[in-house]
Parts: sequence; C-alpha cells; structure tokens
Amino acid sequence: MSSKEDYELVVGLEVHAELSTKTKIFCSCSTEFGAEPNTHICPICTAMPGALPVLNEKVVEYAVKAGLSTNCSISKDSKNDRKNYFYPDLPKSYQISQFDKPLCNNGYVEIEDDFGNSKKVRILRIHIEEDAGKLNHNEYSGGSLVDLNRAGVPLIEIVSEPDINSSDEADRYLKKLKSILQYIDVSDCKMQEGSLRADVNVSVHKKGEPFGTRHEIKNMNSFKSIQRAIDYEKEKQIIDVENGKTITQETLRWDDFEGQTSEMRDKEDAQDYRYFPEPDLVAIRLSDEYIEDIKNNLPEMPESRKERYIKEFKLTEKEANFLVSSKAFSDIFEKAGEICKNYKAVFNWLNSDISRILNEKEFEPEQIPFSAENLAELVTLIDNGTISSSIGKKVLDELFENPREPKKIIEEKGWIQISDESAIKEVVMKVLQNNPQSIADFKAGKDKALAFLIGQAMKETKGKANPKMLTDMFLAELKK
Ligand code: ADP
Ligand code: ZN
Ligand code: MG
Repeated sequence: MSSKEDYELVVGLEVHAELSTKTKIFCSCSTEFGAEPNTHICPICTAMPGALPVLNEKVVEYAVKAGLSTNCSISKDSKNDRKNYFYPDLPKSYQISQFDKPLCNNGYVEIEDDFGNSKKVRILRIHIEEDAGKLNHNEYSGGSLVDLNRAGVPLIEIVSEPDINSSDEADRYLKKLKSILQYIDVSDCKMQEGSLRADVNVSVHKKGEPFGTRHEIKNMNSFKSIQRAIDYEKEKQIIDVENGKTITQETLRWDDFEGQTSEMRDKEDAQDYRYFPEPDLVAIRLSDEYIEDIKNNLPEMPESRKERYIKEFKLTEKEANFLVSSKAFSDIFEKAGEICKNYKAVFNWLNSDISRILNEKEFEPEQIPFSAENLAELVTLIDNGTISSSIGKKVLDELFENPREPKKIIEEKGWIQISDESAIKEVVMKVLQNNPQSIADFKAGKDKALAFLIGQAMKETKGKANPKMLTDMFLAELKK
C-alpha cells in the first residue's frame, strides 16, 4: 500500500468562451442572450438545405487577440473543419470547428500562488468554432424543446496542456484566463449565462511514473463546482488505483447536489468525429500586418493597470492585485475614483463591504448591480458629512437590492445625518440627564463611559447623529 501523498493529480482544461461579437459566426443573426426562443435564427444557423456560411471576420480578430494575450503563436495559415456528430440541438449534425490547423498554438498563462510563486500553464491551442443550440427539458409534459438562438454563436476553445496539479491551481488558471478575456474585451465570461464553460480532464499517477488515464468531466460552469469535482475525482481515482482497479477513459458529468461524478459515456462509445475540411468556407490566411495591427491595439492589461495604481494612487501591491484580479473591480475603481476623487475610499468599499456581499450572494464582480457613479456618490455623501459611514453601509445594501441614486435612497429613508448643532445639543443633554452614573464614571477616569454615552445618543437618533459633533459636544459638556 502506498499513501495518498505518493500520488500526483494531473488536470488539463478545455475552456469554451463565447465571444461577444454582435452577430453569429457564420450568419448575421444577433448573439444577444435571453431573447425569446428561436427569434435569433435564419436559414444558415438552422441548417436549411443550400444555406451557405460566411465567416464573421470579428471572430478571427477576437481569437487572435486571445491568442496574443496568452502568448500563443498565431497561425497565418488556418482553416475550418467539420466535426460530425448527431445531437438534437445541432441542426446540421456537424459542428464547424477547427481540427489540425487552429488559429493559435503553444502559448501559456502564468498563475501565482498566495506566496507570489508563479507557474506557467501551457496552452496547446486555441481554435474557433460555433456553439450548438439549447434543449429545454420540459418537466411537466416530458420531452424537450429546442431553442436555436445560441446555435452559431461564436466560441473559442482554449485547450491547456496537463500542467495543473491541484484544484486550487485549476481555479487560479480559470480565473486568470477569465480576467484576460475580459480585459481584451472578447467575452463577457458570464458563467451564469454559460459564456464560459470548461471540460475538466482529471487523472492521477505516482510521481515519476507515466500519466494515468483521464476522466473528462463535461461542461462545467462554476468555479466552485470545478474545484469540488477535481477533488472528488482525485480521491476516487486514488482509491480505485489502490484497490487494483484499472481506470478507463470515461466522460462524466458532475452532480453538484450529490457532490459526485457519474458516467455519461465510456470509451466504447467514444465519438468518431470524422473531421474533414469544411468545403463551404475558404481557408483563413492572415498577413503579418493584420496580426501586428491587432497586437499593437491590445488594450491595457492587468499588469500595467497594477503598476499605475501603485504609482498614482499609492496602493500597496496587494491592494492593486485585488483590484486588477477582476476587470469589473478595476473599471469601477477607476471610474468612481475619477468622479469622487477619493480613490482610497472606493478601494475600501470594493475590498470590504462589496466583496463581502458578493461572497454572500455568490455573485461575481461583474454582477454588481449598481454603477460606478452610484458608488462615487455614496463616497461623496459620506465625505461631505451628509451621512455617516454606518448609514453608508445601509445605503450599500439598498444599492444591491434595488439600485438607484444614493441621494434618493437617503431621502426616501430619512437617513440624512443630523449635523445641526442645536439638535445634537438637545440629544447630548438628554442622554447626560438620563445617565448620571456615566458622568461620574467618566470623571473617575473611565474612558469607556464616553463610548457608552455616544452609543446612547446614536440609538436616540437611529444612527443619524454626526459622530464627530457628538463626541466633541459630549467632551465639552463632561469637562465643564
Ligand atoms: P478531447 O477533445 O478528446 O478531449 P483534447 O486534446 O481536445 O482531447 O483535450 C485533451 C485535454 O485533456 C487537454 O486539456 C489535455 O491537457 C488533457 N489531458 C491529456 N492527458 C491528460 C491526463 N493524462 N490527465 C489529465 N488531463 C489530460
Ligand atoms: Zn442565423
Ligand atoms: Mg475534450
């Protein structure tokens, strides 16, 4: 018997990202998400006989952008191929993909652990292909309804080498990839809408021995589930190997509720895709100038934003890292900071309360429902003393629940801070009158008594009293 520690986990990921082009890959139908079923379709994406595809040039541009920002070499000579298989949501019974001449080859993405150690995960290839439609299973009447709005939406598939050795590394790789795709603006990567999904290949082997046979878990679209699925498979495969079982190549699905994988198909019915060059499309030839031009126009990447934040806004490296880890955070930070001129306060909101709420709701940063303008206004309202920071937190909750202008929220709720001297004085006198013991305690040197008195005054005003004025006035009265 050997122990668990003798085994090494090996993971390779095939990531599908929907490209955010306005139109589909081979026709001019809209790629908009969430439309009424079968309203974004035409003879081409529904595979009417005789309909001919025309390649959307933007798709090539976006894929080249993705390749360049993941250190790939771009192939000047590329083509599309037919991948044949039958599935009810695939009207042509083949998918137009790329087989032996993908657009991008041999890149890498760098990931970092908590201690700043970095590691390269190599990328084997990135190719372009079309998405399939969607089957909506009808639980009541049985059967399935097919929606072809998504058929023909452009995808890139990013295939990694099996360089990932823990579920944590897989998570970091995926998050890094997602952030790159968002920074270069080729995909919104909304996992909840299926814009980013991964096939997860997992095997185990003893260090120094050849790689084990992989299990492939299909179509995963949550970071958490991917980590759980990898950990589950690792455990299970080690136990199987230890018990003398041979691992066979299988395709699995993950059940998030049960927390386990189950078999979809084994190697026996592995697909033979009978790839061949797509005869209805011409080959793709890219000039050096074309590639060079895309390279020169890539947007600012996280590394450079990070440097800028450290220099211009005096953030620490860790703080800057936090912001650029998500393009949504980074964009809000820049925009809100620009408006309210208090970058540090914007950072603090993002880093503390906003992150906490996102966590509680299991939201991604790009699901923040309010605008950078809203956040800037919240900061300004606190900075100019209109509301206290504790009221600010309540305003933030409102922004998440029902986003509207913070000014409107505090008016509606009557949350404006009391900064009127006579009103504050009235409360201070009342609280002092009701708490003679605290006065005595304070005079006897117990500083805690002051905090208690301020607390009472806050209770009295439902948290709306200006805390600085309260403190000053209590001190003035107590020292009389
Ligand atoms: P397929 O389309 O048959 O799944 P691909 O070549 O597209 O094949 O993808 C194979 C994926 O599996 C790659 O991401 C690769 O890194 C990964 N992979 C290959 N061998 C192993 C292995 N032994 N263990 C884990 N992952 C592997
Ligand atoms: Zn169409
Ligand atoms: Mg695969």
